[in-house]
Amino acid sequence: MAQKPEDIIRDEVRALTGYHVPDSAGMVKLDAMENPYRLPQDVRGQIAALVAHAEINRYPDAAATRLKTVLRATLNIPADTTVLLGNGSDEIIQMLMLATARPGAVVLGVEPSFVMFRLVATFCGMRYVGVPLQPDFSMDADAMIAAIEEHRPALVFIAYPNNPTGNLFEAVQIDRVLQAAPGMVVVDEAYHAFAGRTYMNRFGDYPNLLVMRTLSKSGLAGLRLGLLAGHSEWLRHVDKVRLPYNVSVLTQLVAEQVLQHQVLLDDQAATIKSERTRLHKELKRTPGIMPFPSDANFILFRTAAAERIFDGLKHRGILVKNLHGAHSALAGCLRVTVGTAEENDTFLDALRASLA
Ligand code: PMP
Repeated sequence: MAQKPEDIIRDEVRALTGYHVPDSAGMVKLDAMENPYRLPQDVRGQIAALVAHAEINRYPDAAATRLKTVLRATLNIPADTTVLLGNGSDEIIQMLMLATARPGAVVLGVEPSFVMFRLVATFCGMRYVGVPLQPDFSMDADAMIAAIEEHRPALVFIAYPNNPTGNLFEAVQIDRVLQAAPGMVVVDEAYHAFAGRTYMNRFGDYPNLLVMRTLSKSGLAGLRLGLLAGHSEWLRHVDKVRLPYNVSVLTQLVAEQVLQHQVLLDDQAATIKSERTRLHKELKRTPGIMPFPSDANFILFRTAAAERIFDGLKHRGILVKNLHGAHSALAGCLRVTVGTAEENDTFLDALRASLA
């Protein structure tokens, strides 16, 4: 007799609400922390030539040796670490959890933080423990240590800066977590380009440290490339759950080429940071809006009427992220990605009109 989905699909998967990506056709897209700038025409021409000659009839280099060499040089990855690549850092999160999902194994993080940590843990059959942040979104290191002692997590995730709050945690607090954690600690530096602070030079202090980066916030979200650096003691095992050709021929070629233009990427990040400062100032002087400080390429802000403002913005063609209802600490919160100067002005006008 044929079985029903409830007999076949795991309970924790049926109970999930999948990651929702809203339709953004025709909208000013300020919801997903993308870089608003395209590459200049000459670099796009270089990419076109590479793609024209790419051997897409062949599988990609499974070890992505050339790309890793370029990444090591441009991201200052220490020579004595191993690098693992993912189809976006989302896939790396999944690999780490697939490799550690023993029955009863725990993933620990702060709350609120990047939702994929909890989502992937759940569908990998792991238990996710979220330790609440302080009301100002700083880390409660004592609570983290207590939770680590109680739950002995296989994995700890710390987004640095954190999403959706935008702040960098104090390094002394992260150091305490690294010292206390029995398993791997992933410092997720997705927003490094806008923050400047890093754990990439701390592998000598912490054998259990892994540093994750992505090219998604640096103008290459469509390529899907993330990386994890750490000691081979851990990563040689995680690499076994990586599907062999997870980084495509085109991704490898294009990323290698674009990374040659580091100055260009740095200039774009600098422009985004100065727009962040301006946007924050404008939000702060807007009555009814309370922006939080940000070290990333987005700003979280609180308002008394988040749903109405979100709808008002949407109605005016602007898509931001509505976090009201996602977590009690995010009541009344919306998150806006820093766009071009023009997009930010359009957003500010629409916000003021929605508040009226
Ligand atoms: N980590 C954090 C903290 C993020 O905010 C995001 C994207 N929103 C990711 C990882 C995933 O990035 P990607 O899969 O595009 O590399």
